[in-house]
Amino acid sequence: MSLRTLSSDLDCDGQVVFLRVDANVPLDGGVIVDDGRIRAFLPTLTWLLDKNAAVVVGSHLGRPQGPNDSHLSLAPVAARLSELLGQQVTMVSGGDGKTVWSQVDELLPRHVCMVENLRFDPRETSREASERLEWAMEWANHVDATVVDGFGVVHRKQASVYELPSLTTSFAGFLVEKEVAVLQALTTTPDRPYTVVLGGSKVSDKLGVISALLPSVDNIVVGGGMVFTLLKAQGFAVGKSLLEEDMIETSRNFLADAAENNVRVYLPSDIVMAESFSPDASHEVLAIEALESGSAGSSALGLDIGPQSAHAFAEVVRSSATVFWNGPMGVFEFEAFAGGTKVLAQALTEVSGLSVVGGGDSAAAVRALGFDESAFGHISTGGGASLEFLEGSALPGLEILGWQR
Ligand code: ADP
Ligand code: MG
Repeated sequence: MSLRTLSSDLDCDGQVVFLRVDANVPLDGGVIVDDGRIRAFLPTLTWLLDKNAAVVVGSHLGRPQGPNDSHLSLAPVAARLSELLGQQVTMVSGGDGKTVWSQVDELLPRHVCMVENLRFDPRETSREASERLEWAMEWANHVDATVVDGFGVVHRKQASVYELPSLTTSFAGFLVEKEVAVLQALTTTPDRPYTVVLGGSKVSDKLGVISALLPSVDNIVVGGGMVFTLLKAQGFAVGKSLLEEDMIETSRNFLADAAENNVRVYLPSDIVMAESFSPDASHEVLAIEALESGSAGSSALGLDIGPQSAHAFAEVVRSSATVFWNGPMGVFEFEAFAGGTKVLAQALTEVSGLSVVGGGDSAAAVRALGFDESAFGHISTGGGASLEFLEGSALPGLEILGWQR
């Protein structure tokens, strides 16, 4: 069976549709820093409204500690959604089902409401299937269909992603459909050379995916905070840079496996070393061999790949037919250390084949650095989900929508 998608002959006239999205946007004091995840599900929402449905939008936001974690209210999201949509979005607060449904049951066709953070109810993420099912049954009584368009959560067995779609008619929205198509293309028949660029903070987050990718890729390019564990595994000194001691051995094995699989691994030849982790820390570029002897000394930490590395990495990317990039090359949030990420992002826009950006921070980075989203083949909204897809793990939220690997 394949993914059940929204086909044009679907009749949702007058129906109440629950649209499960991933509006887990970065917030700074209640202000949305990057609304990419909201814009990503708009096509599905407007399609449902054009079809005369009444839509209840649900999402999680962060990891709330209880039902009244007001810092993690979806109210700012509802406000932004309303602006983008050009129509009113009613925020339904009040965690208990009774309050929610008394408001939702009055929903008219073409109306949109957003329910409060789904994780305010602990049953959403409960490990007990019975608790998740109990939640889903309360909802199933009130909705005619469930549409899942939150790609970022399809790797999780959670009540709104798995149990509710199992109880109602359910479909994948356009975003999920596109994500699956792109990631499937990466795992089945990628044009070669196929290059994977990895960065970000932790090697432990990504080692599963890089190992799983070894048989199918030609090049692996590594930068970001995770690279220091690999460099250390090769015997280089890394000062106070991000390091996962317990992953050094695993990293060494990975490098050996890569060689065995004829995969070329590109590591940086120079690093931007800073005196401290701050936006205005004094810094200098050091060749990797000179890390220990440099004037920045061993108390410095690497916050970006150096220009020579960025140039070399960009060359590999540009000459590839397929590129998947996950994880910034440096602390791009600080202007002084955004250089490597910028050069890599630019190179990705110049790939003539398929270029895919995956990962929450990576997607935020390309937008924050001013790149036009349309310059990339695809920007995946799901960090963990896209990695697990590529890794070959089970994806319950897709399987319940009919998808099979
Ligand atoms: P994604 O969300 O795209 O998967 P990650 O969450 O793995 O990416 O990593 C993103 C974070 O990694 C960013 O906040 C960035 O500042 C950080 N990072 C990148 N390079 C370094 C570095 N050299 N030292 C410390 N942190 C880094
Ligand atoms: Mg991240």
